[in-house]
Order: sequence, then C-alpha cells, then structure tokens
Amino acid sequence: MVTWEMFAWSEITFFKPYEWEISKEEYSSKGYYLSLEDMKMRRLELKYEKVPFDKAPKPKKIIDDFISKVNEQISDIKVVSRRESSIYGHDAYKAVLRTGDFILDCYGWYCDYTERAFLLNFIYKFDESKEINSILNRILKSLKCHIKGNNIPWYFQGILISLPREFKPVEKKTTTGLSYLKFYHDENTALVAYNCMASLILEEESIDSWFKNKVFKESFKKYGKISNFSKEAVLKLNNHTVSVFSYDIRMTLSPRKRKCKVALWVCDETNRLICYTIVSKEMIRFKENYMHKLYSLFENTLKTIKCH
Ligand SMILES: [Zn+2]
Ligand SMILES: [Zn+2]
Repeated sequence: MVTWEMFAWSEITFFKPYEWEISKEEYSSKGYYLSLEDMKMRRLELKYEKVPFDKAPKPKKIIDDFISKVNEQISDIKVVSRRESSIYGHDAYKAVLRTGDFILDCYGWYCDYTERAFLLNFIYKFDESKEINSILNRILKSLKCHIKGNNIPWYFQGILISLPREFKPVEKKTTTGLSYLKFYHDENTALVAYNCMASLILEEESIDSWFKNKVFKESFKKYGKISNFSKEAVLKLNNHTVSVFSYDIRMTLSPRKRKCKVALWVCDETNRLICYTIVSKEMIRFKENYMHKLYSLFENTLKTIKCH
C-alpha cells in the first residue's frame, strides 16, 4: 500500500507517495527545480520557468525542446508516443520516451495564471509500468499549478504551513541538526524550524532554551538579543501541546526593537522539536493596528501547520 502526503511549493501542490523523498530542490525568482526519488531511483522531476504571457511557449514546443536536449545527451533514446493532454485545466503535451529499460513520461504546459512554463517528468522501468501507472495518475490528478485565494501552502521536510501569498521563502537550511525555512514580506519574517532527535535534546535542555540557543542564534542573531521572553498561552495543535511565548529583539543601545511571537512543541510522531515564530519589522513605537495584524497573522498561520 502506498501512503500519500501533500507536497506544496510556490502555488504547486500535488499528492506524492510518502516514500518519494526530495533529492534536489532549487528555487529562485525566475524558476524552480524539484526531483523526488524512492529507494531505487529518481522518480519525478518538476521544473518551471517564469515566462511572460506574451512569450508563452506552446506545450508542444516545451516537449520538443526537451526531447532535442535529451537527444544530445542520450543517443539511443526513442520517442514511443506523443499526444495532446491536459494538466489542471491547461492544455498540455505529453511524450513517452524510452531508453533501454527506462521510460520517461514527459508533460509540458504553460500556466497562464502564474505565467510559468512547466516540464514534468516521471521515470520508471518498463517492467514497473503496470503498478506505477496508478501512482502517476493519482499525482497528475491531484496536481495544481496555481492557487486561487490568498493562502499558499508550503511543504518543508514533511511539515505543511499556509501563509498569505505575499510571503516568499528567502532562506532554507536542511541539516541533520537544525533545519529551517524563512519567509519574508514587508520586513516581517515568519520562520518554521525543527530539530531531529527531540528526545535526546530534551534530556539536556528545555524546548525554550533550544529555541534561544539554537534556532534564534542561527537564524536571527544579526537582529540583536532576545528580551522580555514570556509565556502567553498553551494550546493544542495536531494533538500536541504547544507553548506560545512573546519576546522582543533589541540591539544594545538602540531604542528600536522587534516584537515577536513563537510557538514551540514536540512532535512525538517524528521525534522533532518544532518552532514557528513571527518577527516584526524594527521600530521604536508600534501602532496598535500593526500589532493586531501581526498577531492575527501568527495565530492564523500557526493553525495551518501540520507537523506529521
Ligand atoms: Zn496553472
Ligand atoms: Zn506532529
């Protein structure tokens, strides 16, 4: 039985087999590349490029260009079939390529809502065709390349969070210790972080000292020092007990500060310590209206987090 989870990045969402893990992910303002692999080999490659509407490539051209590129690299590649197709309501073009025992299903399309040209490849061995087809169909059926509404979901190493669409990822770090993903909009920062081996860390220190000594030090140190760290609430999220704290960040001798909130919890399903924090812009005085917006952003986005 295949277990599924949702993948989400920059208005792309689809269901993926849990076992298909990210082997490469690269993003910039111009484009994106993702590859997923299972225990055996690479299974999926997804790529998009920002292309303005007036230069939108035809789906067939995306695939033809890709085929000629593959031809330069692999000489014995054969085009088994090609036909028109559709992806999430867009006209698409599909080609099936074969080299030796390997099959490559390729889809090209242009998303006019987000002005992006997409190329999606699935890789499998010929003798896997039967069982893999139902997996590929489920992925294709679930795939979305644009999202209406203001909230955009993001997938980060098994954690899902939805943020207002203005927030863009600016920094991503994945290590065997601390991993985090930072979003930024209008000088406000949102950060999701986790540390594996929660139970081991908790033998040494509390979760709030983990936040102060590890998460904060690694991701916000240049902003200054934590002050007024105080517990505000305890709530339930995904069956976990979540502690919410407020804190300020100050630079020595500066009248300016940042107002912040952080939620901390242990996900025992994944043995991770998890942190979600919002950091305001740097100001001397904070208007009530601004603070209200910032705190409701924190509360509303915290609710969307799925950690296992
Ligand atoms: Zn689309
Ligand atoms: Zn959890």
